[in-house]
Amino acid sequence: MSPNYGIVKCRSAISKSNLPGLDYTINPYIGCEHGCIYCYVPDVIRKKEFLNNWGELVYAKENFVETLLKEVRRIKPGVVGYSTITDPYQPYEERMCFARKIIEILLQHNFRISFQTKSSLILRDIDIIEGDMVDVGLTITSLDREFARKFEPHSSPPEERVQALETFSEKKVKTWIFYGPIICGFNDDDETVKNIVSLAKRTGSYLMYDKLRLKPILSKRMEKYLGEDFEKIRRHMMEDDFRKVYYKVIKLGREYNVKVEPAFT
Ligand code: SF4
Repeated sequence: MSPNYGIVKCRSAISKSNLPGLDYTINPYIGCEHGCIYCYVPDVIRKKEFLNNWGELVYAKENFVETLLKEVRRIKPGVVGYSTITDPYQPYEERMCFARKIIEILLQHNFRISFQTKSSLILRDIDIIEGDMVDVGLTITSLDREFARKFEPHSSPPEERVQALETFSEKKVKTWIFYGPIICGFNDDDETVKNIVSLAKRTGSYLMYDKLRLKPILSKRMEKYLGEDFEKIRRHMMEDDFRKVYYKVIKLGREYNVKVEPAFT
């Protein structure tokens, strides 16, 4: 089922960021059609209209590009996280086509761009995503289609994300993988970790990892979609469970000579 698409106006396009490695963030959409059931964003934005239907409503900020252009002329260049509370290449982007204009504006004004997406649509813009001023991160939580279908129902399937990562890597663009959230009992098995670290090795990507963090809206949502499986997740939310998988990731990273680090310290 297609989500409801809407249009809003924004007052500002770029915000200062406290996230590691990022000076600014941009989010041209409110909401995200990928509708991952572990998405933390509804707990962050706390907007009433997204409480019970995350993934079914997306607003595009229609004046985003012009607003960004005005703002970047007035601020000091830095690293821009594109995006942090939505996916820049979700299906609505196919229609809105913000990304190419945004990329051109940021690069022309000497801002570095750090992309993070779960969509192979990013390949559409591969001709302008190049050089030292960009890096491309693909979130890869598992290479298992079933896992992706269950937890990330409308994102590109894992093999398409892998292909996008490989294509950017072949083009010598700096690439990275976000392995997160780690959901113990579902995507922390030896095979998943090995597949993801090997992929990082093969593509020359560095690897960031993070655990699932249960927040109120997120928990309700997971419980609604997963039923009994959510209880299993709850039982595995102990620090010890996460430590075991971190250990596996770090150990394999050393073995494969892949740079591995936690997304948040
Ligand atoms: S792609 Fe990211 S922002 Fe979109 S639903 Fe999934 S976790 Fe949330």
